[in-house]
Amino acid sequence: MKILTVTKRTAITAACVAAAAAIIVAACAGGGARQTDGLSLPTVVIDAGHGGIDAGVYGVNTGVKESDINLAVAAELRGRFAGAGFDCVMTRTTHGGLYGSTAKGFKMRDMQARKKTVEESGADIVISIHQNTCPLPSRRGPHVFSDRDSEASGSLAQCVQQKLNELYGSDNEKLFGDYYMLRCTAAPSIIVECGFLSNSEDEELLSDPSFRSDVAEAIFKGVIYYLS
Ligand SMILES: [Zn+2]
Repeated sequence: MKILTVTKRTAITAACVAAAAAIIVAACAGGGARQTDGLSLPTVVIDAGHGGIDAGVYGVNTGVKESDINLAVAAELRGRFAGAGFDCVMTRTTHGGLYGSTAKGFKMRDMQARKKTVEESGADIVISIHQNTCPLPSRRGPHVFSDRDSEASGSLAQCVQQKLNELYGSDNEKLFGDYYMLRCTAAPSIIVECGFLSNSEDEELLSDPSFRSDVAEAIFKGVIYYLS
């Protein structure tokens, strides 16, 4: 969707980067990640795409809903960030949509509710979780989308794409997208299409809680890589 034109921040604050770097050092030293004195970590908004009457796409073999997988991955990801001391906000925490009523215009109301959460949280980073589909059943693997007009969004997408490629053993490239969630905020925002539910192998992997945990870990590492 083509919705907004906004001025992008090119990077989060130096204090955020310093704090993130301190977390990495702490983690590498074996002491676990923790918040550092006097420095606040970036606020991360995790957006589980779709929900309610909008299931997104469906798994080719099992009919699993994209919206359910999105929520599961988002919850795992929230655990990673919260455990590391980040301020972490979810746009939705239940299987329901954010549109209020299902009357005409529900999709836009749903998207506007997500934007409101992003704005009210003072987001420094926005990560939308989705699953892909393609008429070509062999198409598989992760794709991370960034806003063409935001250098920071592109850098963040590149880092997350790399970590997801390492998980999948893929060499997919990050892509540009003209999507509402990329353009509704000045903060660097990405859309993570974790895999293709139109591909049997990806569907089976993404239906496995253990693999979804690995996906969340890869996204988290990608964000830390970006911040460092
Ligand atoms: Zn989707």
